[in-house]
Amino acid sequence: MATQTIIQTIASGKHTLSLEFFPPKSEKAIEQLEASSRDLAKLNPDFVSITYGAGGSTRHSTFTYAERLKQTHNYKVMPHLTCVGHSKSELSEIIQQYQQAGFKTLMALRGDPQGDAQSFTPHPDGFQYANQLVDFIKSQFPNFEIGVGGYPEKHPEAQSQASDILNLKKKIDVGADFITTQLFYNNDHYYRFVEHCRSAQIHCPIIPGLMIPTQLERVERFCNFCQAELPIALKSALASAHGDPQALHDIAVNWTFEQIKDLLQNGAPGIHLYIMNQSKFMLALAEKLSEANFLVHQ
Ligand code: FAD
Repeated sequence: MATQTIIQTIASGKHTLSLEFFPPKSEKAIEQLEASSRDLAKLNPDFVSITYGAGGSTRHSTFTYAERLKQTHNYKVMPHLTCVGHSKSELSEIIQQYQQAGFKTLMALRGDPQGDAQSFTPHPDGFQYANQLVDFIKSQFPNFEIGVGGYPEKHPEAQSQASDILNLKKKIDVGADFITTQLFYNNDHYYRFVEHCRSAQIHCPIIPGLMIPTQLERVERFCNFCQAELPIALKSALASAHGDPQALHDIAVNWTFEQIKDLLQNGAPGIHLYIMNQSKFMLALAEKLSEANFLVHQ
């Protein structure tokens, strides 16, 4: 297994490819994760991440599947961790477990409010914001590399993009090493975000996070949840291909391919793909990327 950290890999000038999995909850979902992680291993991603479920619900399964991805496929794995529902001592136990198991990088997040709650309520002995979690990890477990989330179209709860970027800077100032962004379908948001971050003296790598737009309903749902723009051109292309799986497949793969090509040609350090534990579209995208000599060298 490569021993470089993620930022060392980026600093070496290589564009990183990373994939995001989530811990499965049913037998069928377990099989899907097993199959997709096996199929995608041939892309040799620089790292993969595994999410942390709402309300701390996947504390054990995030660890289990992070271990499995590492052991079975030799992936470099970045487990996610959120503040939701955890006291500092629980967080400390979880981080210690990852350290003992040999993980080197964590994605530190606040997490979303639980259930139908509109606002986030911290654990009485926990953290309110991700910058506190980053600070905690860096002071107690200084050897961990830490990624944090960033929002090209502003975090939905933030009053303005300017205040959101100042809050993002708090995470970097206490030691976060790189940023992975929320998904976006219009690259202009990423470019503006990077510009604002650089003006705010945030100089770490900012890895764009993308999701292949496989179905209109799903894309609408995610864009709605994240308050991300759904470009009219993408919406109408997906709508007009309704009921035609091959056309939908081609639109989805081409859209993300064009986004990636543009991003890498304009300075993005790598690409993180939210693959939702599915390999089919990612493999088709990888083939196109490989033919064009981007990211994937099969
Ligand atoms: P924070 O950085 O704490 O920001 C939350 C809000 O508070 C923002 O509006 C910010 O402007 C504001 N804020 C931050 N710090 C301060 C401060 N010191 N003072 C005042 N205001 C402040 N969720 C999961 O549950 N599990 C996952 O695995 C997961 N993975 C993710 C991966 C990525 C790359 C991204 C971008 C998001 C992910 N999320 C995940 C979603 C994330 O948990 C939510 O977006 C959550 O609402 C915010 O998390 P954060 O870490 O960005 O929070």
